[in-house]
Amino acid sequence: MSASPTVPVTASATSRTAHWIQADRDRLIHPNLPADRQDRIVMVEGNGCRVRDSTGRSYLDAAAVLGMMQVGHGRSELAEVAAAQMNALECFHTWELMSNDKAVELAVRLAELAPAGLERVFFTSGGAEGNEVALRMARYFHHRAGRPERTWVLSRKSAYHGIGYGSGSVSGLPVYHEGFGPTMPDVHHLTAPDPYQLQQYGEEGVTDFCLRELRETIERIGPGRIAAMIGEPVMSVGGAVVPPADYWPRVAELLRQHGILLIFDEVVTGYGRTGHWFAAEHFGVTPDIMVTAKGLTSGYVPHGAVLVSDEVTEMITRNGFPIGFTYTGHPTACAVALANIDLIDHENMLENATKTGAYLAQRLAGLQDLPVVGEVRQLGLMLGIELVADKQTRTPLPTGTAPVATALREEAGIILRGNPRALLINPPLVLSRDEADELAEGLYAVLQRVNADGS
Ligand code: PLP
Repeated sequence: MSASPTVPVTASATSRTAHWIQADRDRLIHPNLPADRQDRIVMVEGNGCRVRDSTGRSYLDAAAVLGMMQVGHGRSELAEVAAAQMNALECFHTWELMSNDKAVELAVRLAELAPAGLERVFFTSGGAEGNEVALRMARYFHHRAGRPERTWVLSRKSAYHGIGYGSGSVSGLPVYHEGFGPTMPDVHHLTAPDPYQLQQYGEEGVTDFCLRELRETIERIGPGRIAAMIGEPVMSVGGAVVPPADYWPRVAELLRQHGILLIFDEVVTGYGRTGHWFAAEHFGVTPDIMVTAKGLTSGYVPHGAVLVSDEVTEMITRNGFPIGFTYTGHPTACAVALANIDLIDHENMLENATKTGAYLAQRLAGLQDLPVVGEVRQLGLMLGIELVADKQTRTPLPTGTAPVATALREEAGIILRGNPRALLINPPLVLSRDEADELAEGLYAVLQRVNADGS
């Protein structure tokens, strides 16, 4: 697929599209789509940062699908690797003593890339699974060490860790709790280190505030009852919230003093998104457990990896870590991950994330002069644009950001997602300067005419 815009619509494209849309309405259950919504966009092709729908319309994918398409769409190298692996050994499990060459090679590669000290790997098929495993590892670690009363998990409001029982419970967004019955017990949500929303403390005081709250919470629950704290180094779904530079180092130190494990959820931030292999490097912190997925394979096949310290691994594997998934160590997924990591590495995508991310942030800085743009924030190719009804009170648009995302798609051919407060920009790490310009121009054109009531 070329970078050309829309291709002519043919009669067969129109009738095929009508068929897919009707069949979709009749058969598919979508996440987060009201039943009375009739329209659909049926994607059929992708190349680089662009995707094309069944009507022939081309879009700039500024969301990298769901924050995972690091190497861009349409990399035939990955398709070839998957086909070769499927021809050799499509699938085998890694329970008990079973292993496979690709799982071993990928574990070795990940241990080389990860911050020193995270050298053991447990494979999953995605982010929520990884967080489920991490939470179990944390509790099991303390249990095996003779501290079974350490069951509490600290998390943060606005966090998103997936929709499993544990991962959904530690997520701090009410929509993932309401209506689903009791959540996992022994979870506490702290305030997110959000400098824009915690303006009253000033940039300097945000960490002090969060640390005081963390200290008081540890005292209240009792350090001897807390297994772990989980957090995204940079909150993604919560609004591309970049914490102050001293937040994670100070949190990590306090947790260490109390024997509480630190779990980093790097499902979005991992594999170059922030300009580092992992955001842990940016903050100079090594967690005890690091959960990764998405960019591990750029989404070409579902896969995830949990990286674990020696200390935790030794304790939980002494008598055999008793849990695993059917697809733990899936050789085809591991082969694609190895090839994907090579592409990120050989094509200098970390450097592009840093440079093009900074360029895009500079192009978007002027948006902050518009009445509805509160803040543009950025780390690598992870950006958030906070939309506000009132700059003084920093209240969100009453409509949320969804109508703006729709206008961007319909008018400028730009796909991105938003949460109630912020537009989220996570393009593929191969984004060019021209594409960054196109993205910036589309955002200016649409945001210039958004009113404080969201219209
Ligand atoms: N953790 C974070 C930070 C995420 O953003 C997501 C998904 O967007 C998840 C975990 C869940 O990953 P998955 O949808 O692969 O289960």
